[in-house]
Amino acid sequence: MTGPDGRTKIPADRQVFQDLRSFWKPLMEELPMAMFIDDSLCTACGCCMDECDKNHAISEGDPAYVIDPAKCTECKGDAPAPKCQPVCPVEAIQKKA
Ligand code: SF4
Ligand code: SF4
Repeated sequence: MTGPDGRTKIPADRQVFQDLRSFWKPLMEELPMAMFIDDSLCTACGCCMDECDKNHAISEGDPAYVIDPAKCTECKGDAPAPKCQPVCPVEAIQKKA
């Protein structure tokens, strides 16, 4: 479908979606990278804390351990993959979608 100027016309609802995506994209890119701990799974064993020996992003919380998103780099530049994730026996450490 083309408009009077010969350019492809985008249906209004699709245009709204594109506008929203343009608005959010730069904001999403600004968000810090981070893993998080699912507090419904964490048993507070503490195994993960020592793995974060460079950024010290993991701390003991109540009731679960927590990852500080401002400190977590997903181990970029330190290891090929997040170091804390594989040591968790209950798979409570997950990546933000
Ligand atoms: S992914 Fe790396 S930087 Fe982030 S909490 Fe785990 S060990 Fe620390
Ligand atoms: S290793 Fe897993 S279960 Fe243990 S404290 Fe860390 S997140 Fe919780």
